[in-house]
Amino acid sequence: MVIIMKLGATTIELDAVMAAVSESGFRPFLNPGVERKVVAVLGEVDIDKVELMDRFSNMAGVERVQLISEPFKLSSRHAHPGPFAVDVRGVQIGGTEVVVIAGPCSVESEEQLLATAREVRRAGARLLRGGAFKPRTSPHSFQGLGEDGLKMLAAARDVTGLPVVTELMDAHDIDVVCRYADMLQIGARNMQNFSLLRYVGQTRHPVLLKRGPGSKVRDFLMAAEYILAGGNTGVVLCERGIITFEDAARYTTDINAIPILKGLTHLPVILDPSHSTGNWAWVQPIALAGIAAGADGLIVEVHPDPQHARSDGKQSLKPKRFVDLMAACGRLANAVDRTMAGPAESD
Ligand code: PEP
Ligand code: MN
Repeated sequence: MVIIMKLGATTIELDAVMAAVSESGFRPFLNPGVERKVVAVLGEVDIDKVELMDRFSNMAGVERVQLISEPFKLSSRHAHPGPFAVDVRGVQIGGTEVVVIAGPCSVESEEQLLATAREVRRAGARLLRGGAFKPRTSPHSFQGLGEDGLKMLAAARDVTGLPVVTELMDAHDIDVVCRYADMLQIGARNMQNFSLLRYVGQTRHPVLLKRGPGSKVRDFLMAAEYILAGGNTGVVLCERGIITFEDAARYTTDINAIPILKGLTHLPVILDPSHSTGNWAWVQPIALAGIAAGADGLIVEVHPDPQHARSDGKQSLKPKRFVDLMAACGRLANAVDRTMAGPAESD
């Protein structure tokens, strides 16, 4: 159940509603930072719901009370009427702009990162990506540069002004990653690492939550729910391909998931066409499909020398091809009444 407050509801009215929820044996959960305050009523109490709804509806400052039948109470669209965007150091994900995040799969060196960051910024990317802690299938593969990589990301942000997103793989690293990153990425393999999700829910860093390759849309929303339940409302969902019988591509891009998620939740939804295809040649067409399907953004891997990349070179775009992708995506975004940043002034 959620209690939707009137636009001009006062703090006294809100406090009274929160107190009434607690008195009934439930936990009140306030969704902050929205134009209209919404109080979610959480918990399982054996009580007549109709009588309870009636009681809350009649309180001062309350516009309406709505039952939420889905198990994802906080990520449900009903819990959040009206527009919603996640702010990452001044960049809004979830508004009319299709926001592009770009950069290498892994941070490999200062030169590699800075060269890529400059190129993607010039082409219109709004955030810089780069992994410092890498989830690799083999323990013998490159695992990332760790804190040194995080420092390089922060330095690249200082030079280019692009906020940075990087993966947090292990709760032990949460403090160090939060020190440098503007947005925490939870990788596909950790989507159902509930303990990690809870830790991230305790931070106030925006989160890029990637869909597990074997997870259903509803499991994905329940994973987001863990983060929201900790009071961290800044979650962006990322479709990055799922496992099907088809093995012609690395994964199968679940384009359906984009409009389905956008119908079920207020949380912004972006697409990762790099991991979902696994091949640079398919990145642009699938990026276009994602925008046409309503994605609020893209995350794209770019490398100055993909052949020598230490991870995911096969799916990484050379900077020149990224420029082409941005131009094509910009045109498509306009055709579906969205905006996209064009080439930036040189630095
Ligand atoms: C990545 O973004 O480099 C990555 C490892 O992604 P995923 O968790 O989706 O595989
Ligand atoms: Mn990668």
